[in-house]
Amino acid sequence: MFNLYSKASLPTAYGDFTIYTFSNDEKKDHAVLVRGEVKGKEGVPLRIHSECLTGDVFSSLRCDCHDQLVQSLKYLASVDFGILIYLRQEGRGIGLLNKIKAYSLQEEGYDTVEANVALGLPIDQRDYSFVINVLNYFEIKSVKLMSNNPTKFDYLKEKGVNVIERIPVLSEPRPEDKFYLETKKVRLGHKI
Ligand SMILES: [Zn+2]
Repeated sequence: MFNLYSKASLPTAYGDFTIYTFSNDEKKDHAVLVRGEVKGKEGVPLRIHSECLTGDVFSSLRCDCHDQLVQSLKYLASVDFGILIYLRQEGRGIGLLNKIKAYSLQEEGYDTVEANVALGLPIDQRDYSFVINVLNYFEIKSVKLMSNNPTKFDYLKEKGVNVIERIPVLSEPRPEDKFYLETKKVRLGHKI
């Protein structure tokens, strides 16, 4: 089951969007921000952003989530149309409690991947099925994916989504997140 639940205009500091919510089987309150008219379009810029409370809201420097979110919103505000899908799956799907626990392990010298393993949790349990439903809902023909994460490209291709371009979302490494970004590059294959 996947239906439009509600939508409303959402003016932001970066530009004007329409925010959509959908009822879905996961019962998670994901948000979809739409710029302009996307229905039935080709080459729709698409950002799939997984929730990071510490980064998105508190501007934590332990990761680059805040930078990526802001850059994506700025980019979308600068073009005629596009979509940002905000998935409420904190900490690559492990939840806030486990994410903070993993942070404490990282302070003992584990990297972000080893910490999840030490907690007996999958390295990445994010689920992108909601994304496919959203793309179908808007009858999107092809997308330009705003991401550095090869897993997302593979997933979308596997699901038959036509990804015609990659829009890099690069952030300036800071001393606080240099090791984290390096780990994502080396261990998770991110193009950063
Ligand atoms: Zn983050």
